[in-house]
Amino acid sequence: LERTLVMIKPNMISKSDQIIPEIEQAGFVILQQRRVRFTPEQASDFYAEHYGKMFFPSLIAFMSSGPTLAMVVAKRNAINGFRQILGPTNSEQAREVNPKSFRARYGTDTLKNAMHGSESQHAAEREIRFIFPDSITE
Ligand code: ATP
Repeated sequence: LERTLVMIKPNMISKSDQIIPEIEQAGFVILQQRRVRFTPEQASDFYAEHYGKMFFPSLIAFMSSGPTLAMVVAKRNAINGFRQILGPTNSEQAREVNPKSFRARYGTDTLKNAMHGSESQHAAEREIRFIFPDSITE
């Protein structure tokens, strides 16, 4: 089983009760769950790869604007599998190419796209360690 980090971003945390059963119905097992309120500094560390990009300041402001629900979820091929049901970064594009995806249904635009899912094994390991520093990893 592979693990990936999923987050419900601040604009959609109020929909968690609706979103969590959908994640489970898609075959993912939620191993850990935690509400995090990112400081701007923590959000900058989490999204360090985007430092210097035009959207970085708005991304940091958005991600520290309220609590986020972070989860470690497991399934066979969890990383790619979750990216599939997540949909593309731009929520409007998601509504065109994958209308059933989370971002199509819950996202607003490219910034406020409702949810996050790790994009690679390397990213998943780093992000899980970042949010759940005391979790046991192999
Ligand atoms: P995530 O990493 O959150 O799962 P992603 O891998 O689809 O999303 P990235 O390119 O890693 O997208 O960007 C990280 C986040 O930064 C996006 O989810 C979105 O909130 C924001 N973002 C990315 N590109 C833009 C953009 N052009 N304009 C505004 N915000 C953006």
